[in-house]
Amino acid sequence: MSMDNLRDLFVEQLRDVYDAEHRITKALPKMAREASSEDLASAFEEHLAQTQEHIMRLERVFRLVGEPPSKKTCKATVGLLEEGEEIMKEDAPESVLDAGLIAAAQKVEHYEMATYGCLRDWAQLLGLSQAVDVLQETLDEEGETDKKLTDIAQSLNVEALRGESEEDEDEEAVETPRAEHGAHAPHRPVSGVSKRSSASSMSGAAKPSERSRTR
Ligand code: FE
Ligand code: FE
Repeated sequence: MSMDNLRDLFVEQLRDVYDAEHRITKALPKMAREASSEDLASAFEEHLAQTQEHIMRLERVFRLVGEPPSKKTCKATVGLLEEGEEIMKEDAPESVLDAGLIAAAQKVEHYEMATYGCLRDWAQLLGLSQAVDVLQETLDEEGETDKKLTDIAQSLNVEALRGESEEDEDEEAVETPRAEHGAHAPHRPVSGVSKRSSASSMSGAAKPSERSRTR
């Protein structure tokens, strides 16, 4: 497809993000399964439902600009999701893996926000006022998801920090005052059904029986 003007660029970027959103719907269920925090898992599940809606909105924008919906491989999303996959393969405490999953997801959200922001501005210039509203709606939801992930990270990152320092203490066999608080973070099991509740995430000292997993 030739790219002669802003409309062509608009359609090209529409195809790029249409591809990205499809890839994200495939990645989110796995991320929800891998998340140990209940809050994080449900945030991913909620965003999956939103992402399916984003795809339908993009199809509407394609109609508004008079083009059939089609995809162009979004290499950036391929790469960002691969990085998420790499984190999921790490052998690390579950709080550390959750922190890594949040970072991976936020990178995807920020990338999407950049694309939707440009598309919205271009739609405005192209006089596609209905498309402006549709794209803004999605942009708002990506932003809300990003904020929600930041909130979840606020509590989880404290746990991740403790997990990491206790690992170091194990290796060095050094007692520090920080070790008095909370049990050792267990290593993440391979797969599982139960999640850490937000209550145990916040308390920082769940009973071992609550934290162990049957897989
Ligand atoms: Fe999206
Ligand atoms: Fe998103």
